[in-house]
Amino acid sequence: MTDRIKAFLRDRRPEGPCLVIDLEVVRENYLRFERAMPDSRIFYAVKANPAPEILSLLASLGSNFDCASVQEIDMALAAGASADRISFGNTIKKERDVAAAYQRGVRLFAVDCEAEVDKVARQAPGARVFCRILCEGEGAEWALSKKFGCEPEMAIDVLEHAHRAGLTAYGVSFHVGSQQKNPHAWDSALASAADIFRTLFERGIELKMVNLGGGFATRYLEDIPGEATYGEAINGAIRTHFGNRLPETIIEPGRGMVGNAGVIKSEVILISQKAKDDIRWVYLDIGKFNGLAETMDEAIRYPILSEREGDAVPCVLAGPTCDSVDVLYEKKPYPLPITLEIGDELLIAGTGAYTTTYSAVAFNGFPPLASYVI
Ligand SMILES: *Cc1c(COP(=O)(O)O)cnc(C)c1O
Repeated sequence: MTDRIKAFLRDRRPEGPCLVIDLEVVRENYLRFERAMPDSRIFYAVKANPAPEILSLLASLGSNFDCASVQEIDMALAAGASADRISFGNTIKKERDVAAAYQRGVRLFAVDCEAEVDKVARQAPGARVFCRILCEGEGAEWALSKKFGCEPEMAIDVLEHAHRAGLTAYGVSFHVGSQQKNPHAWDSALASAADIFRTLFERGIELKMVNLGGGFATRYLEDIPGEATYGEAINGAIRTHFGNRLPETIIEPGRGMVGNAGVIKSEVILISQKAKDDIRWVYLDIGKFNGLAETMDEAIRYPILSEREGDAVPCVLAGPTCDSVDVLYEKKPYPLPITLEIGDELLIAGTGAYTTTYSAVAFNGFPPLASYVI
């Protein structure tokens, strides 16, 4: 919660729930990543928060961009990034979108199977491709399942296939799971990546790049490792597994770049109980469908600030829609001041990432989350 955000909310009094982003915090985060990992190029994961002001700031600081769609590519271009600073990092692309990206000058693509390689080979001849490998995601608060990537064994075939199809087999990528609080989580994936490099080298294909993905945590209620701690652990693991043949590396921070830069202002609509002496239910004007989707399974627990004093009592916290899944914290109730009243403002911190982008278009008539970048 920065003074600039406090002052903005005090002076502007925006109506309704909204996210306020402090660009100064984004700038500091970028510079910290740059210092912690000076040998890695930074590709901001646009999906975390694609506000044009954020993209322009990062473009001006020299950032590159990890994009998942042609729309995101166009946003990065509009923000001033040239096409050679853009990676089409989604392993699931329509063939015509590969063509559209190529036509815009993008030459770096993610793949995780031969069918995807064939699309890229047809529509983006000669482009660089990197193959994503599966990663356990253990220790991450927002794990990424098996949807993306293939077994390391298979990645060897996929990259060899790309080479034969006239593409540049460029490297290996993985993602250790979002909000990954263990800085050593990169180690085993780096070991697999080094194996793939060695095997392909023996077959005459020289890979160049390891894409270390995102996963860098933002601070919610618990302490997290700083960028420098991640940097030391990851750079150590790279040296362990690659020796003195160090690959180029890139990182793709999303949450770690913008999470702590944002605060959501919300309002208490109702406080009630289901029976006498039962737990309090607190209903907000923001919920799972207009910004707080990451409370799914209560995975992400945001710091919630009230101006009220007094003892905290456990409350069930719920959103405003008529869908019964629109409950934020129930299994593990959230402590809020006993003095909290209907109409009070609550500030939800650490909400700069994955809020506006997860906000549905007017489900139940609730508008998508408004956002102000200051
Ligand atoms: C979402 C995503 C990221 C960003 O992940 P964070 O955990 O938010 O840092 C990076 N790379 C890829 C390919 C992604 O899909």
